[in-house]
Amino acid sequence: MKNTIEFSNKHILILGLAKSGLAAAKVLHGIGAIITVNDQKSYEENEAAKELEKMGIKVFCGGHPIEILDDHFDFIVKNPGIPYSNPLLVKAKEKGIPILTEVEIAYHITPADFIGITGSNGKTTTTTLIFEMLDKGAKSPLIAGNIGTVACEVAQKANKEDIIVTELSSFQLMGIKDFAPKIAVLLNIFDAHLDYHGTKEEYIKAKARIFKNQTENDYCVINVDDKDVIRAAEGSRGIKIPFSTTQQLETGAYIKDQAIYFNQEKIIDIKDIVLPGVHNLENILAAIAVAKLVSTSNNAIFEVLTTFTGVKHRLQYVTTINNRKFYNDSKATNILATKKAISAFEQPVVLLAGGLDRGNEFDDLVNELKRVKAMVLFGQTAKKLERAGKLAGIEILKNVDNVEAAVKVAYDLSNEGDVILLSPACASWDQHKTFEERGDIFINAVHKLK
Ligand code: ADP
Repeated sequence: MKNTIEFSNKHILILGLAKSGLAAAKVLHGIGAIITVNDQKSYEENEAAKELEKMGIKVFCGGHPIEILDDHFDFIVKNPGIPYSNPLLVKAKEKGIPILTEVEIAYHITPADFIGITGSNGKTTTTTLIFEMLDKGAKSPLIAGNIGTVACEVAQKANKEDIIVTELSSFQLMGIKDFAPKIAVLLNIFDAHLDYHGTKEEYIKAKARIFKNQTENDYCVINVDDKDVIRAAEGSRGIKIPFSTTQQLETGAYIKDQAIYFNQEKIIDIKDIVLPGVHNLENILAAIAVAKLVSTSNNAIFEVLTTFTGVKHRLQYVTTINNRKFYNDSKATNILATKKAISAFEQPVVLLAGGLDRGNEFDDLVNELKRVKAMVLFGQTAKKLERAGKLAGIEILKNVDNVEAAVKVAYDLSNEGDVILLSPACASWDQHKTFEERGDIFINAVHKLK
């Protein structure tokens, strides 16, 4: 325990349940805090609220009435997705009640060090790579975040010798107060989530918060190819460890003669790395920098990079059928991710794309689409993507009902040596509950082809 905040007998409001709110409520209740929970979902369909109620926790469901704040609260732990414009939060701010996110709680309840990874894209991949490298290198890492367990649950079990590797969204970083990772990684900053943060300046500021409590003994691993990342790290006190895919650096992680180096030492030839794409080289350079900072052996790093085929649904290699390689990039829910995915391949690509229509066109994708030989399209955006495909001069454009049908059609259109890639450039919610469901349907349909 860092014991910087005493939670026992503190009155805490958990705003928004989901996975992280439920975990925070249980952990804080377990260490003696007096918890109230408020969730948007109605009581009738709220299993999490009912479970907490049975533990003696007060629950309010079906909205966020500001009268809840008539009671005294020492602080609020909010779900990262709830905007600060929510009237209850506006009122809380007026009353001077601190508004935190669950990762701040995690930080206070464990003596373990944190490695925090943020950026617009690549967080999950880099977090997983770091975890795997440390694990193979006989360290004692624990993974938290999107693909792992909620940070405060992990923290509750962690000892001093453990290292918690966690991805951090800008929304989570908005709600930290003292959180200070031993190593902070900032991968990249694109125009994302501007609907939440308002302006790019605000978004950069949110990302920069990962450095705000670091001291001279901590490290910031930063992508020096990205000027916004450099700007975000300007005020940090930590030791800067740069990485770059384009410049040969004096220190840090970089590429020279088709190999990756860290502090002038060769780590691995690029041809030996399994994970495709320049964007993954960024993630790999960041992961190597972190692994070396905590004295992971080169052997452990090498072993991971020569076997790791990608996190599920992130440009994940599925299988090869009659010399056609299948990749599942269902997590590519925006244009940028699909651009990166297409440019990861030298082979001809048959692209499966489409999904939720957010009102945008796909002109930004046209340049990359010039490298695509055929498109198989589905979902609300099929017509818009077809238009972009025509602008790119693609002659083979097929519309189908769904991902499953697309797999069969894509195979029939392909030749030996091609890549068949699901990288939808859209969210999945028009036809699926989650991008994971869409990716699983793709994987199953591919295996059925066999
Ligand atoms: P995040 O956790 O930040 O959403 P993921 O690792 O889950 O990132 O990858 C999400 C998508 O972004 C994937 O489809 C992948 O192809 C793409 N991507 C991954 N790393 C990068 C990167 N460094 N730069 C740009 N795009 C990336």
